[in-house]
Amino acid sequence: MPAIIEIIQADITTLEVDAIVNAANNTLLGGGGVDGAIHRAAGPGLLQECAALMGCETGDAKITGGGNLPAKHVIHTVGPVWKDGSHGEPGLLKSAYRRCFAVAHQYGLQSIAFPAISSGVYGYPMRESVVIALSEAVAARGEYPELERIIFVQFSEGAQQVYLDAAERLGIVHS
Ligand code: ADP
Repeated sequence: MPAIIEIIQADITTLEVDAIVNAANNTLLGGGGVDGAIHRAAGPGLLQECAALMGCETGDAKITGGGNLPAKHVIHTVGPVWKDGSHGEPGLLKSAYRRCFAVAHQYGLQSIAFPAISSGVYGYPMRESVVIALSEAVAARGEYPELERIIFVQFSEGAQQVYLDAAERLGIVHS
């Protein structure tokens, strides 16, 4: 069975999944937005684990345990800061999603939940980032048979609608 792609409105820190993805910065030492929320919910052990990773390149991803989170792991990735779209942003965002799926596969994970990487403080327009997010999920569904659930998590109703509209446009079956 290929993975189910789910689009939900929730706080990603509450999800019981094999991994939640953190939209982190290059230091991996915490920040605002979803990064801050994940570190607050996971507790100080997560920061200690992150410090040992020595940062992360933009477009790459690294894994830690989940600390006090209900999720078993956190996959920390760094998306691009949006300038105007002509500075390699689409390729870097694509790479961030791909590396998350590749790391999940290395660890044999079956469920993974993503926030809208780069579409908060980093300013990537969500109407464009969502196409990359969903296309990479479709690619991963084909590539990694052990994956059962790919979950896209939105904080706001507006963002949720952007994801639902894009899924419909792209003909993606979701629940
Ligand atoms: P970036 O710096 O990569 O842009 P942000 O954390 O600023 O990352 O935002 C990424 C997305 O995550 C935004 O759409 C933001 O609304 C959303 N977000 C923030 N907190 C949470 C949360 N607790 N659960 C799910 N999504 C969240």
